[in-house]
Amino acid sequence: MSFTDKIKEYNWDDLDAAINGMTDHDVNRALYAEKIDFHDFLALLSPAAEKKLELIAGRSHELTLQRFGRTIQMFAPVYLSSECINSCLYCGFNRNNKITRRTLSLKEVMAEAKVLHDQGFRHILLVSGEFPKSVTLDYLCEIVKNLQKFFASISIEIYPMETDSYKALVASGVDGLTVYQETYNQERYRSVHPAGKKRDYIWRLETPDRGGLASFRRINVGALLGLSPWRVESALTGIHAAYLTGKYWKSHISISFPRLRPAAGGYQPEFPVTDTNFVQIICALRLWLQDAGIVLSTRESQNLRNNLIPLGVTQMSAGSKTAPGGYLLTDEAEGQFQISDDRTAKDVAATIFSLGYEPVWKDWDAVFLKAD
Ligand code: SF4
Repeated sequence: MSFTDKIKEYNWDDLDAAINGMTDHDVNRALYAEKIDFHDFLALLSPAAEKKLELIAGRSHELTLQRFGRTIQMFAPVYLSSECINSCLYCGFNRNNKITRRTLSLKEVMAEAKVLHDQGFRHILLVSGEFPKSVTLDYLCEIVKNLQKFFASISIEIYPMETDSYKALVASGVDGLTVYQETYNQERYRSVHPAGKKRDYIWRLETPDRGGLASFRRINVGALLGLSPWRVESALTGIHAAYLTGKYWKSHISISFPRLRPAAGGYQPEFPVTDTNFVQIICALRLWLQDAGIVLSTRESQNLRNNLIPLGVTQMSAGSKTAPGGYLLTDEAEGQFQISDDRTAKDVAATIFSLGYEPVWKDWDAVFLKAD
């Protein structure tokens, strides 16, 4: 069974009706329940829960402290390529956008990575558009083999691959896989992915399963907030994360909350998510999935990111550039989207400290694998 079978148990409209039908009583039950169940999770995502957001946030803070302590794991992306065969309407790398594109050579990747290493990062995320002609499995394995000498954790956010290719990447030293479904609403998915391989909803939906089968140590899922109504989208994101947690117990499951940002092409979110909605989503997910990692990127503003640190977040990117060569090259290729928090990694780390938390640059070493 894959998540394709699991998601069939849920109907978008029924979930919408269930969430919108939740009462104050349902929300109170969820807030004070010893063990939060799926019904409670839906109550926490409901309009009725908005009045109790402060209490929900307080609970989310307590639970995150219990499970993760006062730590925020730091990471940064390295964009390998802005070439792409897809035409996702919301993305700056959409093949129809007339932008300068680039795929970095190994030497350029290493130079970019050195900038991040010098800033203190030991966890990096390799990001690429879908362009298998240049971003081949061999290209990726070669990069990872070289980066491993400097980084304790290497994750990928690239195009979906077969399980065997993922196994090869794990063997070469990749430990994390990030893949966002973008939207779990199949109709919306089709309308924002008009062409290219990404049009295949099921292929993408089953990608985290293939990652689990390939034994990635970390798997990170999420939806691109703004593409579909957020309450049901968040419910299905939670269902996906819960399914993966139960099935691939060797992988630690995290959830990201990418919210649409301005990008080349000028796509406007049809279902905007306010900052208050955003806080509600994060806290509701924390209350239901107490051990899930929660990842926050520089898409969000400095102020919101600072306020979210105590509420449930466990990992943050900092000082990010979203173009290949963005850290070093002056004739910069265009980025995938505009970031909002443009503080340096050092400044973000200082803020984390000032809030009583510890920025963690390294929480893992492959040597642990050899210990047993
Ligand atoms: S979201 Fe990814 S697959 Fe789609 S156009 Fe952008 S880089 Fe390509």
